[in-house]
Amino acid sequence: MKFISTRGRAPAASFSEVVLAGLAGDGGLYVPEELPKFSREEIAAMAGMDYVQLARTVMRPFVAEDLTEEELDGLVERAYETFNHKAIAPLVQLDHNLWVQELFHGPTLAFKDFALQFLGQLFDLLLKKRGEKVVVMGATSGDTGSAAIEGCRHCENIDIFILHPHQRVSEVQRRQMTTILSDNVYNIALQGNFDDCQRMVKASFADQSFLPDGRRLVAVNSINWARIMAQIVYYFYAALHLGAPARAVNFSVPTGNFGDIFAGYLARGMGLPVEQLIVATNANDILHRCLSANDHSRKPLQHSLSPSMDIMVSSNFERLLFDLYGRDGNAIAELMRHQGGEMKLAAEVVERAAALFSSHRVDDAGTVAAIRNISEETGYLADPHTAIGIEAARQCRRDPAQPMVCLATAHPVKFPEAVQKALSGQELPLPSHLADLFEREERYEVLPDDMMVVHKFMAESL
Ligand SMILES: *Cc1c(COP(=O)(O)O)cnc(C)c1O
Repeated sequence: MKFISTRGRAPAASFSEVVLAGLAGDGGLYVPEELPKFSREEIAAMAGMDYVQLARTVMRPFVAEDLTEEELDGLVERAYETFNHKAIAPLVQLDHNLWVQELFHGPTLAFKDFALQFLGQLFDLLLKKRGEKVVVMGATSGDTGSAAIEGCRHCENIDIFILHPHQRVSEVQRRQMTTILSDNVYNIALQGNFDDCQRMVKASFADQSFLPDGRRLVAVNSINWARIMAQIVYYFYAALHLGAPARAVNFSVPTGNFGDIFAGYLARGMGLPVEQLIVATNANDILHRCLSANDHSRKPLQHSLSPSMDIMVSSNFERLLFDLYGRDGNAIAELMRHQGGEMKLAAEVVERAAALFSSHRVDDAGTVAAIRNISEETGYLADPHTAIGIEAARQCRRDPAQPMVCLATAHPVKFPEAVQKALSGQELPLPSHLADLFEREERYEVLPDDMMVVHKFMAESL
């Protein structure tokens, strides 16, 4: 299988090439030249598979030319053996035809583990086959960093440097990163804010001459194709348990960069019967405005109670636009030149999107109310991101006779502020495998917001 860029000006590339490259050379995002399709019979035959078997089956067509069956099997097994629930992605019923799929049983208690546990294993294998070593560098405002570190901590061919803003992430978030004492893991607490961290990472990618010979930087951000691919699997897992392929199953997805919900769109393209995908946003509602009113203007970032969805633009949305524009790379390149300003989509494109996607916005007050209502009505404790998805499902579901699955993207203990606002006095103990988090040894380097100093630290660490 070949992969092409959404902007049409980069050469087609293999699976291994796109995974290691991240972004395409023309600034676009890679998508499969042709999406693999499963017949109804093939999907019916997946019923009863456990998560690992299903992951192999769903991902195989994408990787068949680059990985042997044994290699893929090994990757998937190792990626998901770190999860703390035997079902990996269990379903919980809240109401008639209303379900939550818990995606927070991985090592960092958020759904990003599904992609990053797999990506770490995959990187390591591809690099071993090439005899290469790379340096992963990333900035985090708290959450993605720990998932990336957990994904790479056992990788022999990767060193990972994660920058977080010094004293501006919660103690739980910091400790989830800094208590990983593997030799290849480096946490940098930068004396600045998250934007400074991001700027530092961007500049480092632009000029990598500070690295020792033979080393290069790679990113593990949410535009990486392998991350999206790994997320397709749990849509199949949920739908198969709720009656697919005989029945259509719908999803409501707390959305930031549009990676998670795009995986649902791909699952549908591969043959899964999905009739409605709900884009649930917080006050950073560019996607909701775009889908409901064709308003894709940038607004200043608002810091919300659901910080993992605080975005100004959604990078993976470009992948959907590519399809909606008839896979015309020139049209997308043209559109993206207006990213900073008022990107206006063609009216028929918005209409086409509306056939499948609905959207809903929930602000902080609505989030707190949703956590409270869900708890009172069902006894279920939802984290703020998940609560936004459940609320959006209640507001926009089209067919109450079809199962609706709300993706639970984080464990409530990760976001105690919102939960305590909603349910005052609620105790939130850490899950057992993190119970001693506050006693564990930490290791991190506090560095000034100075590129020379950061680069010197990195070069000397390698
Ligand atoms: C990253 C994240 C999201 C948003 O997912 P996208 O793929 O960026 O749309 C939602 N909830 C949580 C808890 C997250 O960590």
